[in-house]
Amino acid sequence: MTRLYFDHCLLPDGWAKAVSIDVDAGGQISAVIQGGKPDDVSFSGAIAMPGVPNCHSHAFQRAMAGLTEMRGQSDGSGDDSFWTWRDLMYRFVDRITPEDLLAIASQAYVEMLESGFTSVAEFHYVHHAASHRPFDNIAEMSLAIIQAARETGLGLTLLPVFYESSGFGGAEVGEAQARFANTPDMFGKLVESATKAAQDLPNAVVGIAPHSLRAVTPDGLAEILKLSDGPIHIHIAEQQREVDDCIAWSGARPVEWLLDHAPVDDRWCLVHATHLTATELAGLAHSGAVAGLCPITEANLGDGIFAAVQFLDRGGRLAIGSDSNVLISVAEELRLLEYGQRLRDQGRNRLAKPKGSTSGSTGRSLIDQVLAGGAQAAGRAIGKIEPGYRADIISLDQNHPSLVARNDDAWLDGWIFAGANDCVQDVWVGGQHLVRQSRHIAREMTAKSYANALKKLVDF
Ligand SMILES: [Zn+2]
Repeated sequence: MTRLYFDHCLLPDGWAKAVSIDVDAGGQISAVIQGGKPDDVSFSGAIAMPGVPNCHSHAFQRAMAGLTEMRGQSDGSGDDSFWTWRDLMYRFVDRITPEDLLAIASQAYVEMLESGFTSVAEFHYVHHAASHRPFDNIAEMSLAIIQAARETGLGLTLLPVFYESSGFGGAEVGEAQARFANTPDMFGKLVESATKAAQDLPNAVVGIAPHSLRAVTPDGLAEILKLSDGPIHIHIAEQQREVDDCIAWSGARPVEWLLDHAPVDDRWCLVHATHLTATELAGLAHSGAVAGLCPITEANLGDGIFAAVQFLDRGGRLAIGSDSNVLISVAEELRLLEYGQRLRDQGRNRLAKPKGSTSGSTGRSLIDQVLAGGAQAAGRAIGKIEPGYRADIISLDQNHPSLVARNDDAWLDGWIFAGANDCVQDVWVGGQHLVRQSRHIAREMTAKSYANALKKLVDF
């Protein structure tokens, strides 16, 4: 058993003083005791809170970060957009091997842990070899993701992605998407093999991800939903063009169509959900599904701004994801989520709960939302410092200039609005002490493998 002690700790009921957390050999919290510091602690720190779940990532895209920020990578139509970014991503995908993926994902996962994320929902869609043929083990690329989680210690909800068409109405998959495509049968084998490989990883579960309504047919969707009783994630309504194409195909908007045709409930995470009507927002909130928001990527790709104020007013649940991994930071995701609402509404503290129910802190309100929503989207017992939950804990640096001379919720506001990743000092996942003094224990080795993979991949 490991016993951690903190002067201040964010528990489900709020901040508590002098808290010891016992972690059993399996990485679960076995006891949380308040009051007094025991003698036999293996770690003693100042400020602790639950680690934040990352609800959406494409780890391999970490390798493209910063490579698409110049004008003129367009398809000839003039403006750069999500769709021209996607062309570059496809060219990149064409070269990546399982070894490259392991190196890149490990780097992304180390950065996630150092920023305060303690788990990731990996929406993994590059399945086949560069030849476009399946590997001997059809889940070979998924195994690289599982290995990256194993080596870095990050908690994992692996979501193998089902992809079967290149546009609404079952348009045939093009050359660029050949590494993603499967029939429902092939996909069933892939999920089975990935599930087997993840079995001995105590911090992992496997769910499924129909890629989007443009990439799966209604029949395909119905088939694959039979394959899992775990989490189900889908990209939806990220781009206006996607909404227009969906209306042209079905007469309905994407979220409207999904709520009408699929059993959307609290196992589901609708990623982005950027372009929603008031009726769709209410429907999504009512379904119990999580809206998986990725503010940095959505800003980077020019997607639009999610109506978070209205969604929370309707009781909606949300989580944050690092998606393209162009920049990995819990604090910056949350800051941008709030700032997008402020810029649109020309007002402040848009996502804070009303004062009276809480301290009125925007940071606390954001953290409460994404711990609960992120844990739900992960389909794992995380997001709380409570017996029975994984010991996924982060500790903030009380001496950081943005945190000093504050307490309780003001630490969260300091970290999110005035701080950065270096406010996160120590991180445990399943009781393993992975980040110490703001650096992951495998940081140097991971960075070296990453650099070698990048030198090979980036020459276009
Ligand atoms: Zn995505």
